Amino acid sequence: MASFSNKRVVVIGAGIVGASLAYHLASQGAQVIVLEAEGIASGVTGTSFAWLNTAHDAADPVAHLRSAAIAEYHRLQTELPALQIRWNGALSYGAEAGSMPPGTLVSREQIRTLEPNLKHPPEQALHAAAEGALDAVAATHALLAGAQAHGAQVFTHTPVVDFLLAGTTVMGVETATGIIEADMVVLAAGTGTARLAAMLNAPLPITASPAIFIRYKTANDLVKGILSSPQMEVRQGADGCLLAAEDYLDDTPDNQPAAIALRTAEAIQDELHGVTSIVTEFACVGWRPMPADGVPIVGYLPNISGAYVCAMHPGVILAAVVGRLASEEMITGKPSLELAPCRPDRFLSTTSA
Ligand SMILES: Cc1cc2nc3c(=O)[nH]c(=O)nc-3n(C[C@H](O)[C@H](O)[C@H](O)COP(=O)(O)OP(=O)(O)OC[C@H]3O[C@@H](n4cnc5c(N)ncnc54)[C@H](O)[C@@H]3O)c2cc1C
Repeated sequence: MASFSNKRVVVIGAGIVGASLAYHLASQGAQVIVLEAEGIASGVTGTSFAWLNTAHDAADPVAHLRSAAIAEYHRLQTELPALQIRWNGALSYGAEAGSMPPGTLVSREQIRTLEPNLKHPPEQALHAAAEGALDAVAATHALLAGAQAHGAQVFTHTPVVDFLLAGTTVMGVETATGIIEADMVVLAAGTGTARLAAMLNAPLPITASPAIFIRYKTANDLVKGILSSPQMEVRQGADGCLLAAEDYLDDTPDNQPAAIALRTAEAIQDELHGVTSIVTEFACVGWRPMPADGVPIVGYLPNISGAYVCAMHPGVILAAVVGRLASEEMITGKPSLELAPCRPDRFLSTTSA
């Protein structure tokens, strides 16, 4: 693969993954055009809890990527001062055996110091002091602004509807407003990636996996870091609101986002001091791009030249590290060993063209 420095790269999708790719590609000299069907971070990035945690089980083939995530975000913060991250740590307790995240075991006394508003601090919890959370919408804007500072162009409300092909080589994309030629097209369209890949005869098994996102108006500074327990997963948003993430259960009236938000609000009132009033500002289902085996899909599509895929969950955690590694291999032509478990061809039969 020839070097892509100075080459034209179209990135499809302006969620946090596409934005990170755009930033890393542009800062290494590629001429980047980002095409977004709607607005910036209008996909699932806009409703992400955005906890930067490194939890993984021993058998996870991308444990090394998750472990690198925090250092990669610290690197990005030195490069992009506008990127704000609350490095306030995370306290977890009550998870089922075997799924506890990494951290230091802390006592009830220590928990009281870490989260003084907890009404019923457990005997023990795990405290991951290095972890944090970001505003995924603001982070996406910061990454795209960084890309634009390196010459990238960003077009919103510009859906990609087809690809421009010469035989088995992708030569560009077709949008509602015309054709854009490119040396490389990167599919970073979240749950829209499977549809785009299918247009290139690459059926990738990426499902839309639901989760509930809730934003509450309540007292400021109820929790200092991230709190994860069987009763609730909450953190303070940058604007003082309280954010929560909940499992999606089903589509029945009792389990609509507004109903889950009410139940979660009750749990928050039961668990935290200082919640004199709590009002749901927003509750919705967010659709996460979930590869069938849970492992990110990152790399060139087989059987076709010029198309690179980047679809993953958890995309916020992995955006910084994968953005760097994927862009480096596109720019240098040298495959990244770290990305080896993520290749799309594990799902696709390769044919010699
Ligand atoms: C409740 C909840 C909590 C979560 N918590 C966490 C967490 O704590 N940590 C974490 O890492 N992750 C978390 N996630 C998941 C995380 O939000 C996603 O993995 C991540 O945002 C995916 O980013 P993305 O850029 O791949 O996708 P998206 O944000 O969906 O971006 C894809 C973009 O592509 C655009 N697009 C699609 N098709 C086209 C097309 N044809 N042409 C042009 N543009 C197109 C879309 O409009 C969209 O803007 C959570 C998700 C939810 C719902």
